Amino acid sequence: MSNMTELILPYDVETVRADFPILHEPHHDNVPLIYLDNAASSQKPLKVIEALDNYYRRYNANVHRGIHKLSEEATEAYESARIKIRKFINAGSKREIIYTKGTTEGINLVAQTWARANLQNGDVIVSTVMEHHSNIVPWQMLAMEKGVTVRYVPLLDDGTLDMEAYRKLLSEEHVKLVAVAHMSNVLGTIHPIAEMARLAHEHGALILVDGAQSVPHMPVDVQALDVDFFTFSGHKMLGPTGIGILYGRRDLLEEMPPWMGGGDMISRVTLEGSTWAELPHKFEAGTPNIAQAIGLGYAVDYLTELGMDKIHEHEKIMIEYALERLSEVPGVTVYGPEGVHKGAVAAFTVAGIHAHDVAQILDMEGIAVRAGHHCAMPLHNELHVNATARASFYLYNTPAEVDALIEGLYKAQKAFKI
Ligand code: PMP
Repeated sequence: MSNMTELILPYDVETVRADFPILHEPHHDNVPLIYLDNAASSQKPLKVIEALDNYYRRYNANVHRGIHKLSEEATEAYESARIKIRKFINAGSKREIIYTKGTTEGINLVAQTWARANLQNGDVIVSTVMEHHSNIVPWQMLAMEKGVTVRYVPLLDDGTLDMEAYRKLLSEEHVKLVAVAHMSNVLGTIHPIAEMARLAHEHGALILVDGAQSVPHMPVDVQALDVDFFTFSGHKMLGPTGIGILYGRRDLLEEMPPWMGGGDMISRVTLEGSTWAELPHKFEAGTPNIAQAIGLGYAVDYLTELGMDKIHEHEKIMIEYALERLSEVPGVTVYGPEGVHKGAVAAFTVAGIHAHDVAQILDMEGIAVRAGHHCAMPLHNELHVNATARASFYLYNTPAEVDALIEGLYKAQKAFKI
């Protein structure tokens, strides 16, 4: 696949790009924006932007409260988004779909409710060295409080998880919970979640999956994966910030104590005590992010209409092309699996130039990439690098943008006289 003109993409990217206003905004005094920071957050199609505008202009009201028409309309839109999301990840019931602020909040919710209620001194949580900080720190905080231990599955040289070590941890330790990302936000490694779930269950452990990087980019079926908890963020999948989802198996959610207390999460309150609302409201205290939830529903519509299979196929072509072109640049090292399918994320270093300088020079060309540890410091320690630059692709990126990235890297090398 050495020539860009040979690439056959599964849909017309220009038609998709027309839906994203920001891609047509003048950027840096007229260079076009080449947005390759999608693992951090995605851009938004007009449909989503208009959904927010429409809510605030036409039916802004609180949900589940008023008897008046506006509140009913807002509640209907807010709850119908939940139904769309249920379908999108094939959860068994809309009661299993809890609105959160994002992936981070979903993980903390499970740590502070299920884990706090069920784990005790001597129990083990298994995570991996590849996790985002949001799937490490909440467990460490719980470990300090409850005397549980967090153990980490190591990485093999090829950037995949050491499944032998995983099996060993499960058979030798008192593992109660496995907390693992579906896809690494740095290496792009896609973990064999169905197999990891099966093994966890065989050993009496539950599994929580951080789907922040998978749900936006590939079809996900939480029942087929047979996971217990699954969490993701709206802003990485064309939706607004401030909204995310925690999926939990209904029987587990029913048993779990609530986390935050307040309005909407109760059934009855007296001065002596309270009882809890039905799922999912038990976990949704206070006025939620209404516009954002509705916006996420529209993002799900957009993704569904384009087709998650096609989006995944597009990204597969993009990452293969990007890896091939990056391999042509002397001094560039790309981290992550080679020769096996990975997500559309390329974290790399350029010999002799700090990742922040690489990102800055690319930015002058209108190319947005991220530089640093990408909230995965332990992984960078394992890789023996302080920082990487990261180009991450989405449904609106084009092979020509990969070419621009490569040109930008040559420019960076020229500027640094390499
Ligand atoms: N996990 C992974 C794998 C991520 O990539 C991210 C976002 N970078 C998060 C968790 C955290 O997501 P959020 O900040 O939206 O809560």
